[in-house]
Amino acid sequence: MNDTAFTPEELVFIGVCDLAAQVRGKAIPAVAFQDALQQGVGYTPANICLSVLGAIGSTPFGTRGDIVMVPDASTIVRIPSETGVAEQFCLSDILTKEGDPWDFCPRHFLRRALERLRAQSDTLLLASFEQEFIYTGASANPHRPYGLTSFRDQGDFGPRFIAALRSAGMTPESFLAEYGPRQFEVTVAPAIGIRGADEAVMLRELARALAVQAGHRALFAPMAEPNGVGNGTHIHMSLRDSSGTPRMHDPQGAYGLSEIAGHFIAGVVEHMPALSALTTPSVGSFYRLTPNRWAPTWANISLQDRAASLRVCPGSASKFNVEYRVADATACPYLALGALVHAGVDGIERRLCLPAKPEIAFGSMTDEQRREAGMRPLPQTLSEALDALDQTPAAREWLGPEFLSLYLNFKREEVQAMATLDPQAVCEAYAGIF
Ligand code: GLU
Ligand code: MG
Repeated sequence: MNDTAFTPEELVFIGVCDLAAQVRGKAIPAVAFQDALQQGVGYTPANICLSVLGAIGSTPFGTRGDIVMVPDASTIVRIPSETGVAEQFCLSDILTKEGDPWDFCPRHFLRRALERLRAQSDTLLLASFEQEFIYTGASANPHRPYGLTSFRDQGDFGPRFIAALRSAGMTPESFLAEYGPRQFEVTVAPAIGIRGADEAVMLRELARALAVQAGHRALFAPMAEPNGVGNGTHIHMSLRDSSGTPRMHDPQGAYGLSEIAGHFIAGVVEHMPALSALTTPSVGSFYRLTPNRWAPTWANISLQDRAASLRVCPGSASKFNVEYRVADATACPYLALGALVHAGVDGIERRLCLPAKPEIAFGSMTDEQRREAGMRPLPQTLSEALDALDQTPAAREWLGPEFLSLYLNFKREEVQAMATLDPQAVCEAYAGIF
């Protein structure tokens, strides 16, 4: 009898992007995928408390309980490989055993925020995540920011990456060699609702998978070294009415924003110190939020200033959007976007208004002038950001008291775990993970 090798069997990894912004879950045989769409795949509540470093921290769930990951077929990604079997993964919601949304499901958190926006003002959110990363397959020398030389140097990674994004249903818009050595940036067209955040997760994992196929890494950590160049994740947002008509732009409005957009963005400015605990939620995130890096340091808005927290991006009514720059890849896109939407809805409800446009450019203002213009400095550490979140009563309603306390605990343990490391070691730790 001829003994031949097994034919490899395709698997689909069913996963959740969790509080640590890690996609975790389990793989099932591809032949069982259709059943999994109906019945889901069992998962363990305490896994939502898996820390960024891998250990389960303190958890209210202990060793008990069962939850169910129910994959969303619209997020399936297939990555063919020249040498072996295709990788497949699919993102999921987490439900209770009874079939209700689980209170700690990040995707559900975003869905609730979007429903609140829709119920309150018949408005939808259009979003895209512009992401920067280091591709280790490119050489750092010569370092030619934005250069054709640097672009060429990444070989066929870019073209393969763009093809993979398109095959996963995204519309790639640009790919470029960014400012830092081996740093690249990719943008995709915005998508309505949850899809915007799904795509952010899918895009990162696609970049990582393709880099690994080439024997390299796509590294999204906010700072690979303490004095290096930051990798930001810039979240572009605009509002649409329920029929899809843009409702972001009014040439007469302050900063060119429509009335509703002005209130929405004013809510984001108001809550920004607390938001940073969900959008720049790692110890290393705060090495990026320092002066002279084209990264934000104050809670402010500007028409076209890339040192501002919120940059109004010009364009026709359909392109007009606001870019939130206090974000990086250590944030779970569902939590980040959900919190932004909640803050925006608070702004609409309270009819908050943006501070008047300062006469002087942000970069030329003293700190005192910035304060007089209504700006506040961003938190300077993750601990400060977590305290701001803790002290924001509205956040208790956004997340619910149990989720909020779990999140604060979870992130304070991360601060603790990094407390003995110097900045170099902190950056290395995150660079190893993201
Ligand atoms: N790398 C910068 C950041 O950390 C952004 C540069 C840019 O404006 O694209 O956010
Ligand atoms: Mg950039």
